[in-house]
Amino acid sequence: MLTLLKLLKDGRFHSGQALGAALGVSRSAVWKQLQHLEAELGLSIHKVRGRGYQLAAPLTLLDPAVIGQLAPSCDWPVLVFDSIDSTNAEALRAIDRGQAAPFLVLAERQTAGRGRRGRKWASPFAENIYYSLVLRIDGGMRQLEGLSLVVGLAVMQALRELGVSGVGLKWPNDVLVGQKKIAGILLELVGDPADVCHVVLGVGINVNMQMTDEVDQQWTSMRLESGRVFDRNHLVAELGTMLQRYLARHQAGGFSAVHAEWEQNHLWQGHAVSLIAGVNQIDGEVLGIDTQGALRLRVAGVEKIFSGGELSLRLRNDS
Ligand code: ATP
Repeated sequence: MLTLLKLLKDGRFHSGQALGAALGVSRSAVWKQLQHLEAELGLSIHKVRGRGYQLAAPLTLLDPAVIGQLAPSCDWPVLVFDSIDSTNAEALRAIDRGQAAPFLVLAERQTAGRGRRGRKWASPFAENIYYSLVLRIDGGMRQLEGLSLVVGLAVMQALRELGVSGVGLKWPNDVLVGQKKIAGILLELVGDPADVCHVVLGVGINVNMQMTDEVDQQWTSMRLESGRVFDRNHLVAELGTMLQRYLARHQAGGFSAVHAEWEQNHLWQGHAVSLIAGVNQIDGEVLGIDTQGALRLRVAGVEKIFSGGELSLRLRNDS
C-alpha cells in the first residue's frame, strides 16, 4: 500500500493503468489499495475521469538520507517505520535485540502512541513527528537528573529555530504555545541507573496536523501557529542538533547548567496551580524548579518540593 503512496506523493495525476503497471497489479487492485489508503491513513485522493488519481496535497515522507545531509553531526542510525505501535516501544525492543546506542526510531504514524501513565498520543500518518532517540548511560545518575526537562528545552529551541513563536515549557515535560500543547515528551529507562542503562527520549511534535478528534485538551501544531507547511525532515534534523547541544551541556555541568534557562522559559512561573498526583490535589504557587529539576511550590505559605513521573500541573482559575 505504501509503495502506491510513494508513487503518488508528488501530488501529480497518475493514471490507474500506469500505477497498475508500476505495481504489477490490475487497475481494480489499484482502486482497492487507494480506498485503503483513504480509509486507513486518512488521506484524501482526487479521482478525475481521464486523468487518474492525485493526492489532495503533496506529501513529503521521512527520509534518513535527507535528515543525514541536514544534520551531519547526528551520526546515529535512523530507523524509519511506515507504521508502528509506538516508537518508544520499538526502541525498547531494539535495545532488547542488542541494537547499539545511540540510535533513532521514527515513524510515519503510531497505532498506539503513548504518553505518561498509559495515556494515548494522537499520531496520524505523515503529519507530525514521532521520535525516539536511544542513549546509553554508563553509571551516571547525574546524567539522568532533570533529563526530561533538558529534552523539553531542546524541543522548544528547535521549534523556535524553525520560526514558531510563543513556545514555552510547562513542568515537567510539556511544550506549549500559550495554553495549547504542541509537543509531548516521554522518557523510558531500562537497565540499572547506577550501572549501565539505556534511556529512550520519546518526543511527539505536532507539525502539520490541522484536525484531530483524538485529543481531549487544548492543542496546536507548527502549521496552525505559523500558517506554513513544514518538511518534517528539517525538524528531525534541527531537533537532533539541539538535543546534541543541550545533552552536551547537561553532561558537562549537570542540570544546574540549564536550570536558569529552563525557569526563564517556564510559562507558569509565579502562577497559581493545582498539582495533581493520582486522586490527590495540592494547590500552590509556582516558585520555580530546584537545581535537580524538581518543582518548587509555595503551599499555604511554605515552600515544598515535588518530583516524580506521576505528577501533572493544572492552572487554577484564579491565576
Ligand atoms: P498533562 O500534564 O497535561 O496531564 P501529561 O504530561 O500527563 O499532560 P502526556 O502523557 O504527555 O500528558 O500526554 C498525553 C495527553 O496529551 C493525552 O491525555 C491527551 O490529552 C494529550 N494528547 C494526546 N495526543 C496529543 C497530541 N498529538 N497533541 C497534543 N496533545 C495530545
